[in-house]
Amino acid sequence: MAELKLSETRDLTRVERIGAHSHIRGLGLDSVLEPRAVSEGMVGQIKARKAAGVILQMIRERKIAGRAILIAGQPGTGKTAIAMGIAKSLGLETPFTMIAGSEIFSLEMSKTEALTQAFRKAIGVRIKEETEVLEGEVVSISIDRPASSGGAVNKTGKITMKTTDMESDHGLGPKLIEALDKEKVQSGDVIVFDRACGKITKLGRSFTRSRDFDVMGSKTKFVQCPEGELQKWKEVVHTVTLHEIDVINSRTQGFQALFTGDTGEIRAETRDQIDSKVAEWREEGKAEIVPGVLFIDEVHMLDIECFSFLNRALENDMSPILVVATNRGMTRIRGTNQVSPHGIPIDLLDRLLIITTQPYTEDEIKNILEIRCQEEEVEMKEEAKQLLTLIGCDTSLRYAIHLINAAALACLKRKGKVVEIEDIERVYRLFLDTKRSMQYLVEHQNQYMFSVPVNTEEATG
Ligand code: ATP
Repeated sequence: MAELKLSETRDLTRVERIGAHSHIRGLGLDSVLEPRAVSEGMVGQIKARKAAGVILQMIRERKIAGRAILIAGQPGTGKTAIAMGIAKSLGLETPFTMIAGSEIFSLEMSKTEALTQAFRKAIGVRIKEETEVLEGEVVSISIDRPASSGGAVNKTGKITMKTTDMESDHGLGPKLIEALDKEKVQSGDVIVFDRACGKITKLGRSFTRSRDFDVMGSKTKFVQCPEGELQKWKEVVHTVTLHEIDVINSRTQGFQALFTGDTGEIRAETRDQIDSKVAEWREEGKAEIVPGVLFIDEVHMLDIECFSFLNRALENDMSPILVVATNRGMTRIRGTNQVSPHGIPIDLLDRLLIITTQPYTEDEIKNILEIRCQEEEVEMKEEAKQLLTLIGCDTSLRYAIHLINAAALACLKRKGKVVEIEDIERVYRLFLDTKRSMQYLVEHQNQYMFSVPVNTEEATG
């Protein structure tokens, strides 16, 4: 691994998660980081969002590397939603990785390897590269293709670029000809040509001026750009994650593993080499570390070894911001007989900034359900919304959110256009919430295999 491979990672687009939290577009804060009652898909939870806003500011000012935050609260009180809100507010430049505590227990890799990968996915490296680029007000490009002899096409040509202070002709290199063909550059496309990697980037289309060009060859393309300079040394900055660098430099994996996610274990020597190379770049001013956010949901699912790993990992100067969440109270720390708040060892707990979430009021539940109806494009009568809100208060917010789509299908089945009370009632009877499901199991426990006898009153509260 003499030269670190980076180019492959440039074109990777991050896959956007949609689903339960797709309506969350940020933390819903104003310019002075005060939470708006309902904004960016976020409702209520004012104190927690305010605290998250302070953390957001610290992240933006890069003052929080190596810190950790715990979001604690009852199920369905928006812990994950707040973490998503932080991620959305950070923008694409800042890496955000989300895992559930239980995900790290797999047969394919050790717990510490899984955690290491999660950490390194949340550490960005901003790399500055100087490349010679051809950009400018291109008046025209002509590619002459004289009649081929013996099947070989002899490509020659010239590019006429109008810069701010001069007009000049440049011979077309084979790389540029290839790139023009590959990118199907059309008349009016605004382009930048990166000589180092032979790549054309189309910046858009503009017809600020058009000019005819005397066509000499068999194929001519006209390209016009608004303005720019010719053959300028341009600084190109891209942010990749340490994990992406690990994977493309891992001899056993190769960069395709980034798409399949099938990365397996990465050798410690590979990581050491990458770390020292990155340290070198940092010293030379070619790279800087962008600490991202690692969100571990259900953190009580981690065991004592994982917790001591987290303690150590947070000491590292490249560490991302760790956000963990749990809905547990006093719980046994996995792998020990010790009971601790949230199932987290006291020494780690002591490092955490703790944010708590509160149960929602009826109005807040109604607001969230309305936002979800919009998100899922479901039209619902006011009375139906009220019934759904009551169900949400009596069961759980998540159960009520699930009923939206089911009710829309019930509505469709009766050829209705707007969800009515009867649709909500129908799906409420069809699908059990946790309370009714437990009650049912207790009543029918004899019909199930290996059922542990339970006291009816205890189980159903
Ligand atoms: P658990 O402890 O069970 O993991 P949680 O506290 O992480 O629950 P979420 O998954 O964030 O709860 O919330 C449940 C659903 O309600 C999600 O669809 C979430 O997007 C939505 N939601 C929760 N809180 C809010 C909020 N304040 N504003 C808008 N939507 C919310």
